[in-house]
This record gives sequence, C-alpha cells and structure tokens, in this order.
Amino acid sequence: MKNALITGGTSGIGLGLASAFATKGYNLLVNGLEKNGMEIAQQLAQEYEVEVYFSPANLQHPEQIRQMVRQAERELGQVDVLINNAGIQHVAPVAEFPEEKWDAILAVNLSSSFHTSKAVWKGMQERGFGRIINIASAHALRASEFKAAYVAAKHGIAGLTKVLALEGAPHNITCNAICPGYVKTPLVEAQIADQARAHSMSEDEVVAKVMLKKQAVKQFVDVQSIAQLALFLASEAAAQMTGASLPIDGGWTAQ
Ligand code: NAD
Repeated sequence: MKNALITGGTSGIGLGLASAFATKGYNLLVNGLEKNGMEIAQQLAQEYEVEVYFSPANLQHPEQIRQMVRQAERELGQVDVLINNAGIQHVAPVAEFPEEKWDAILAVNLSSSFHTSKAVWKGMQERGFGRIINIASAHALRASEFKAAYVAAKHGIAGLTKVLALEGAPHNITCNAICPGYVKTPLVEAQIADQARAHSMSEDEVVAKVMLKKQAVKQFVDVQSIAQLALFLASEAAAQMTGASLPIDGGWTAQ
C-alpha cells in the first residue's frame, strides 16, 4: 500500500512531503493552487520514478474536495495515506481582522480536513487500513496575538485529529497531527512582511524577536524533519500511535 494524497503538495512543506514520500516509492496525488502544479507533479514523477497526479481543487469548496478525492481514487486506485497540509495565514489585530479572511482560513485550514477525511473514510474502513496526517502547527497548542483565525483553526485540527483517531481505531485508521514551529516557506516569508507591519518592526526584527524568539533552538524547522516524521506516522511501526499532536518546534511548546 503505497499511495498518498497530499493537499498543498506543490509548495513549501507539502512539496517536501511529496518528495520524501516519492523517494520511498509512494505514488502521489498532489493538490495546490500553484499555476505550475502540473509541471511540479511531472518533475516529481520523473525525478523519483513514481506516478504523480495533480489536482488544482480549491479547498475552500467542498464539492471540489470531493472531486479531488474521487480523482485520487481513480488515478491511484485507492488512498491509503491522506496528508492534510494546505494552509493559509492572515495576520491582523482582532478588531481589524477581515471577516472574509476568517472564513477563508477556517475553510482551508480546518473544514477542508473534515471534507477530505470524510471522503476517504469509507475506502480506508473497507480496506482496514488508513493513515491521516494533519499538518497543524505549534499554533494548535499555543496562541500568538494577531492570528485569531489561524490559531482557532489549528486548535480545531487538534480536536478533529482526536475524534478521527477514536473513530478510526477499530478500522486500523490512525490520525495524528504534526505541529511545526516556524519553517521558512513562502507562507512564512509572506508573514514576515505582515508581522512587520502589525508589530511596527523591521523584517529582521520580526524573525529574531517574534518568530525565533519562541523556538529555544534558534533555527527555522527543517522541512525534511517534518517529512521524516510523516513517513514514520504512515508506516506500520506507528500503528499504535494515534490521536497525537506532535510538536516539532525547536522547543517552543516546552515553555
Ligand atoms: P505554502 O504557502 O508554502 O504552501 C501552502 C500550500 O497550500 C500551497 O501549495 C497552496 O497552493 C496550498 N493552498 C492554499 N490555499 C489553498 C486552497 N484554497 N486550495 C488548495 N490549496 C491551497 O505554506 P507552508 O508553509 O508549506 O504551509 C503548509 C502547512 O504547514 C500549512 O497548513 C501551514 O499552516 C503549516 N505550517 C507552516 C509553518 C511554517 O512555518 N511554514 C509552521 C507550522 C505549520
């Protein structure tokens, strides 16, 4: 059983996950809004000699999510590993937080994982095997100011993870959340600029005083470390590990 559906698999952490799973021989369906998503999928397929399909589904729309899962089941045969990774961010004080940003962040960072999980569930249950891995955040476990929607959505993912773990247990379906600290990806590069405005700081100050201040190990988290943890969670060795929210955050949540 070696196939995986990775949302947001065409950028940042998701692309790192896709490369790591492809290295281990997984066939993939990657999803994302990147215009060159199809090319990225083709490059992965060539480089790692596996099948890689692409879906441009916009995860704000449940019907597109269901279509994406149907496509994955058609192209890959079945979905054994689902990685809910796509995410967006907006940084603003609560009084100025745009309602449409709240709705979009809740839709992509939380609701989409319910819709994908629901859509793959029956197949996983019938086959008696499934691995659902949610890429949450240290913000599933801790809050920061100016991130009302993101923190609420990521705390929600930690809860959804526990429910799916309990319901999946009789069917050998596990569900865990990985909770990274700051990783240098396009999402974070955009935040550095946003945070600089919100905190009235320079971008260098935001990295040193806001982002890495919380990580005892004064480094961004490495994408490949996250990918190796996800590979472990997808493996047979992790069969008894379920419902966990696992920090990989340079010591942030040790505080
Ligand atoms: P990224 O911006 O590099 O990638 C996000 C991916 O999600 C892209 O492929 C994008 O196209 C996709 N996406 C966004 N909105 C979408 C939509 N509506 N429909 C379909 N796809 C959509 O970001 P990243 O840093 O790699 O983040 C990946 C995940 O990791 C997110 O859930 C994020 O919250 C989480 N995370 C990131 C960090 C970090 O520091 N970068 C830390 C903790 C958690």
